[in-house]
Amino acid sequence: QTQLKAKSKHPYPDWKAGDPVPYAALCQTFSLIEMTTKRLVIMDHCSLFLRQVMRLTPNDLLPTVLLMINKLAPDYAGIELGIGESLIMKAIGETTGRSLQVIKADQRVIGDLGLVALKSRSTQPTMFKPKPLTVRGVHQGLMSIATVSGNGAQGRKVDGIKKLLSASDSQATGKVDITKDKGGPSEAKYIIRFLEGKLRLGLAERTVLVSLAQAIVCHEADQKGKVPSTTELENGESILKTVYSELPSYDAIIPAVLENGIKNLRDSCKLRPGVPLKPMLAKPTKAITEVLDRFEGQKFTCEYKYDGERAQIHYVAKDAPQELSQATAGASKETADGVASIFSRNSEDLSKKYPDILAKLHTWVKEDTKSFVLDCETVAWDVDEKKVLPFQQLMTRKKKDVKVEDVKVKVCVFAFDLLYLNGEPVVEKSLRERRDHLRESFAPVEGEFAFATSMDAQELDEIQVFLDESVKASCEGLMVKMLDGTESGYEPSKRSRNWLKVKKDYLSGVGDSLDLVVLGAYYGKGKRTSVYGAFLLACYNPSTDTYETVCNIGTGFSEQVLEELHAQLSQIKIDRPKPFYSHSSGGQHQPDIWLEPRYVWEVKTADLTLSPRYKAGSKEGVDPSGEKGISLRFPRFIKIRDDKKPDEATSSRQVAEMYRKQEGVTKNKGPSVDDDF
Ligand code: ATP
Repeated sequence: QTQLKAKSKHPYPDWKAGDPVPYAALCQTFSLIEMTTKRLVIMDHCSLFLRQVMRLTPNDLLPTVLLMINKLAPDYAGIELGIGESLIMKAIGETTGRSLQVIKADQRVIGDLGLVALKSRSTQPTMFKPKPLTVRGVHQGLMSIATVSGNGAQGRKVDGIKKLLSASDSQATGKVDITKDKGGPSEAKYIIRFLEGKLRLGLAERTVLVSLAQAIVCHEADQKGKVPSTTELENGESILKTVYSELPSYDAIIPAVLENGIKNLRDSCKLRPGVPLKPMLAKPTKAITEVLDRFEGQKFTCEYKYDGERAQIHYVAKDAPQELSQATAGASKETADGVASIFSRNSEDLSKKYPDILAKLHTWVKEDTKSFVLDCETVAWDVDEKKVLPFQQLMTRKKKDVKVEDVKVKVCVFAFDLLYLNGEPVVEKSLRERRDHLRESFAPVEGEFAFATSMDAQELDEIQVFLDESVKASCEGLMVKMLDGTESGYEPSKRSRNWLKVKKDYLSGVGDSLDLVVLGAYYGKGKRTSVYGAFLLACYNPSTDTYETVCNIGTGFSEQVLEELHAQLSQIKIDRPKPFYSHSSGGQHQPDIWLEPRYVWEVKTADLTLSPRYKAGSKEGVDPSGEKGISLRFPRFIKIRDDKKPDEATSSRQVAEMYRKQEGVTKNKGPSVDDDF
């Protein structure tokens, strides 16, 4: 309501219609957001600001939204800052004339580089008043830092950071109280936090999306001199959410909404080849009976769950010129008869990893199939034995600049869903219809392209037999999917109840493995003295944007893996935990070294238990006192998840769900064991 009644006026005085959006105005909004934890208040600040941008400087709406979500471009563009702490400290030191030692000492005390930058700026005498930063300028500056490559790239990145920092307005912040993290505009702080990849405002990406929808609806009503109704606001939100899930690209959506309004957005912004969507995900189960309970009275299908790498294949034939022009917007490559691209589960471009797939694609496509988006799993393939190979084989393939003639590990593509066909999205059709289209539009080629093996039987015994067969065929178990009705539509980016996974290994355990972020390491003992012997792992809490620790792990690593991990992790050491790490403060529980949050590992566990040492799920109400978090008992390393970013790790809520599901089971199992070393 405050949102609706508020005049679309922002208290930033120097910003006039047509001016570029002042970066200080955005930072002021960030500061307001940072001062509260109430989601509705955050949303109000956010949408009021976006509404103001639309009114005064609509051309800057895109960079404003991108800076709010800590991104420079859509994920598939592959633009990443990749800037570690040491480079940032160097830039702060060089900009402010303070030595690296002083900066490091400050960082050890303050623990937040954004505040270190602020402190350094405010103690620096300024001879010239810098030209104010604009949102557009900061976006461009960050973009050039991200895209610098070649010789001397590091040095030029530092120069880019220095340029932004020296233009940041320290005067507006006044005297900096380094014990306080909140209040006052502070450009240097937010520039540094952007570079670190975390603004830490409690502003989830989803909240920005909803705020944007509100801002658009309110702005459109403002122009007509009206106040929007609640229904109009809800419709706007629903339109933007759906459109964004099918076409997750603000670069495409924002110009379209500015030009044609929100009502027409669904027509102008549809799923299209070239722009990857976030894949649909499955819920874990612990028993086939759980599957039967969930789908009672409804038709479902069971498919093999292949153990490879998820791939979304986009294709447009040369003789579909209209779509071709749009498809080339993405990371498309020329193929024998069209353009195609392959994306990972987190929308990264895999075309350079799988040129062999791109080279063969045209041979699987039937004549009438002119464009498509396929959801599939690429699996290592044994050419002699004609069977699937374990995931470890796929891992040995090079990731970039692969040449078709050098490929040693062949892959077979197992297709299990179709999202777009011949110019039309098909995500809203039932799975049965999509599957029919899939089977009609492609021709399997042995060892190259196949449809996921499936069975539509509904009886427990038959499913059990099919599960055993899937494991014999080197698969992880089954995916069980709703077949008919609107519920069986493809739900991009959702972990849906309409897809269940049944993994053979976990039927008697917690139902699934976890994907966790490595935050720290312990020096090895005995045979492991030259490497790290154990590691501190965490899950991710998207609502607080923090990593909550969940276990120490020292099992499941071969000597070779430990050596590789030592080499890799030594590169990302940091002096102290990041402010967004949540771990018990007890001295004896601290790892020997802390790490940047960069790598995700898959981990198996016997079960889950409560522990005062760890913080996972402590805000999810699992422990009435709120002091204990969830921890893993007997965790075991499985593999590195290259295809997941840290904020795609298992969430605190998922850990809490797993804990609750097995709560009754583990009671009275004896004393809890936090660590295995
Ligand atoms: P997991 O560790 O199980 O792969 P995840 O978080 O990556 O977890 P889930 O949704 O939990 O993803 O499991 C589904 C994954 O299984 C998909 O991302 C895909 O890579 C893989 N997969 C293999 N076979 C199928 C299939 N027939 N249908 C859907 N996904 C499949």
